[in-house]
Amino acid sequence: MINLIFFGTPGAGKGTQAELIAKEYGLVHLSSGQILRQEIENGDLGIEIKQYLDKGALVPDNLVIAMMEKVAKKNWADKHGVIFDGYPRNLEQAKSLQEFFAHNNLELDAVINLEISEEEAKKRILLRGQNSGRSDDNLETITERFKTYHEQTKPILDYYKNLGKIKNLDAAPSIETIYQNISQIIKELKK
Ligand code: AMP
Repeated sequence: MINLIFFGTPGAGKGTQAELIAKEYGLVHLSSGQILRQEIENGDLGIEIKQYLDKGALVPDNLVIAMMEKVAKKNWADKHGVIFDGYPRNLEQAKSLQEFFAHNNLELDAVINLEISEEEAKKRILLRGQNSGRSDDNLETITERFKTYHEQTKPILDYYKNLGKIKNLDAAPSIETIYQNISQIIKELKK
């Protein structure tokens, strides 16, 4: 069993890599953004949640934490592990996830920190926005999403550094190169 967090700014490639790696290693891919977008499509809390996404702000912790724990519990049993993509995004969520791991006799293996310049990440998101249909892939919301990242998400790197879990990775190269580099990290974790 291997449990990972994919970390990075919006546009760093977390979702792309999580999907590829999950497929290759039989892991469950849990993207909080995707789960929230599904809730907007057909859940009871859609209207409330959409307001936060469209502002580039974080959805309140009580909602996100409950949702993530529910899907994690449902999916964990028959898989080889989990990739959390876009979760946790602040200290409260990080602490609650550590408690969740502890209560369920699970362990976090690593936080893969995909490092990329803000300029390159913004370019990627705008490109993606042409096809993604995501209402938050526009310049105004992107600026807010980066602000949210710097103020609330980036600080949790220190929390994971103290736990000795961070693996930094250059996220500027091609999808294939980054994929190979993550695979290498996983092979070493499995040893
Ligand atoms: P993402 O798909 O990861 O880029 O997330 C899109 C949006 O969903 C974010 O800008 C937030 O509004 C919301 N979101 C995603 N993950 C979280 C989370 N862990 N906590 C709070 N809000 C989140």
